[in-house]
Amino acid sequence: MAEKRDYYEVLGVQKNANADEIKKAYRKAAIQYHPDKNPGDKEAEEKFKEAAEAYDVLSNPDKRARYDQFGHAGMSGAAGGGAGGFGGFSGGGFSMEDIFSQFGDIFGGHFGGGFRSSGGGGAHHVNRGSDIRVRVKLTLAEIANGVTKKLKINKTIACDKCGGTGAKDANSYSTCPTCNGAGYVTRVENTFFGRMQTQGVCPTCGGSGKVITAQCDKCKGEGTLRGQEVVEIKIPAGVGEGMVLTVTGKGNAARQGGVNGDLLVMIEEESDAELVRDGNDLIHNLNITVTTALLGGTVEVPTVDGRAKIKIAPGTHAGKVLRLGGKGLPDVNGYGRGDELVVVDITIPAKLSAEEKKLVEQLAAQPGFQKAESVKNQNIFERMKSFFR
Ligand SMILES: [Zn+2]
Ligand SMILES: [Zn+2]
Repeated sequence: MAEKRDYYEVLGVQKNANADEIKKAYRKAAIQYHPDKNPGDKEAEEKFKEAAEAYDVLSNPDKRARYDQFGHAGMSGAAGGGAGGFGGFSGGGFSMEDIFSQFGDIFGGHFGGGFRSSGGGGAHHVNRGSDIRVRVKLTLAEIANGVTKKLKINKTIACDKCGGTGAKDANSYSTCPTCNGAGYVTRVENTFFGRMQTQGVCPTCGGSGKVITAQCDKCKGEGTLRGQEVVEIKIPAGVGEGMVLTVTGKGNAARQGGVNGDLLVMIEEESDAELVRDGNDLIHNLNITVTTALLGGTVEVPTVDGRAKIKIAPGTHAGKVLRLGGKGLPDVNGYGRGDELVVVDITIPAKLSAEEKKLVEQLAAQPGFQKAESVKNQNIFERMKSFFR
């Protein structure tokens, strides 16, 4: 039986890769070696199974910890102390059915779409392009409804001449002298359990087992060029300031056909002249006239769906909060929708004409205007928020 390769190397991730990176790497490998993409290719099938096995271990914190400590020996059960849970692999490894029943969901909507040709017969690169961070400014209306943005991203892209490999042509390779084509190097270490072999990605070839003998003249062997890509990104409704959306694989291309970095899109909220966000609620400070406050009436208020008419009841106090149910922002996780809170203020004319003054004086003599009362039943918190405008 062939010697097992290092699981990190199989997935092309660093030893300190987080769960998300491991999942992404596995998805990429699974798509690349998927039997539907490689009909009748025995080698691809083995790689497909190998990736599933690596993912099974590295995606499970307990198994991963044991693997990190003891390598493949820790997986066999002999050195592991019999904690169980390692039954699946030691014999013939995974069957295809196992893989689909256990990890099928990882393909998600990506399968069929994300497949990327890997140029020079590509194997297990560890090169990874860097992530790109961009900011996107959204209006409240865009946040309320969700929006699709097309972003023009300056980035490194795969060289079109060599397909990202960096090689002049298919004959421009020779077997890596460091690893003799294996793609990994074996080290012997002394451990608590005695001498143990560990395997690491070959530093010379980066895991491909091959070195380039003649470089592509367009990219000087890098496999990448400076370029631009228009990335369409669907931003869900309800996002907020500072949230970061990850678009997998849309960052910088990696050297010589490695794994693309990600595009990280940070959300910024454009401040709105009339509506202030408070979580999923929106607050609007509404000014009404003294006469509307006294007599009632209909006024217009802004909402994220355009202007709306609301009724003001006769005798409305300043500071009264009118709640427009469901007129706030949708929750980003789909838990309903916030409200719009309309906080009433009353505009008092700064100057009165002689006639106005006379009328108000007459009004002031009326019995209903003789006594001021403190306003009850006001929600202090909601009143406070109106001061932040
Ligand atoms: Zn090598
Ligand atoms: Zn090139």
